[in-house]
Amino acid sequence: MDDGRGKKSGGSRGGPVEVMKGIYRIEIPLPGNPLKAVNSYVIRGRERNLVIDTGMRRHECLDAMRTGLERLGINLSDTDFFITHFHADHLGLVSELAQETAEIYLNAPDATRMLGGFAESLERSGRLHGFPEHELMKTLDHHPGRLYGPKLPLRFTHTDDGRMIRAGDYTFRCVETPGHSFGHTCLYDAEHRMLISGDHILADITPNLQAWFDNWNPLQEYLKSLEYAALLDVTLVLPGHRDVFHDMRGRIEELKRHHENRAEEALHVLKTGPKTAYQVASGMTWDIACDSFDLFPLSQKWFALGETIAHLAHLESLSKIAGEVTEERGRQQVLWRPVSRT
Ligand SMILES: [Zn+2]
Repeated sequence: MDDGRGKKSGGSRGGPVEVMKGIYRIEIPLPGNPLKAVNSYVIRGRERNLVIDTGMRRHECLDAMRTGLERLGINLSDTDFFITHFHADHLGLVSELAQETAEIYLNAPDATRMLGGFAESLERSGRLHGFPEHELMKTLDHHPGRLYGPKLPLRFTHTDDGRMIRAGDYTFRCVETPGHSFGHTCLYDAEHRMLISGDHILADITPNLQAWFDNWNPLQEYLKSLEYAALLDVTLVLPGHRDVFHDMRGRIEELKRHHENRAEEALHVLKTGPKTAYQVASGMTWDIACDSFDLFPLSQKWFALGETIAHLAHLESLSKIAGEVTEERGRQQVLWRPVSRT
């Protein structure tokens, strides 16, 4: 069926745009979020359609999705879902869309972690790394995962690396690329040299890395996953945010350099004496329009801290710094210091 309504429309705002034959992008707005929007990709199939990533569970997202699917003539009763990772802007809305019979593909590491003490880990780790006590609970109460995550329970079909998924004219291989989340997974179509990259590789945004768990070194995982993606023959990337792009390997090199520079910057901040991750974060430069770190919106401060811990955990794994748990007035904190080379 070709109703012509889903074709490139010269940008009727938010309407579906065909980015590849039979693959439509619906831009789902993320109100008040610096990312502005998330890309949902819809593949029309002969029997079942596939929707890749969905938006947050909030009415602005649901409205945009419903309008988009209607214009494409997509019926939810014939539709399955593939979610690149468990963050609320990709997964949240799926509970409002998926019908009883729908498959909801999500990688096993993300599916497991989101159910097992996730919120408690954030709280514990925020304290340990020096997030101001008086701002901590307010920040966590407004965490997007808490406000806009999916209604549970959901019945996920777990994916792992190498699993094949067919949709329309496309045969995708699941490519597990941990780093941005525990088991973030891209979809690769070798025949069309196309990668649906989720938040693993974005064109003009640096995917953020958050390290709120013990023994989890997301930056190291992420760098490995960039190398893994670089092995793929790709000429078209359909990312989770903003526009499609072509030069995947060039972008991978930029992302690697970015993280090397950030790790160097964190190390430099530590040269003036031992610090908590929060103190390191406040000494680094951030692309946020605020006069000082203290004035950042709480959510931005929180994500800056998570990102800083990720860089510190990486530096620690390279034996460039060491962290030590100290106790001050009953509050345990991790203090980081450079390891002096002998
Ligand atoms: Zn995202």
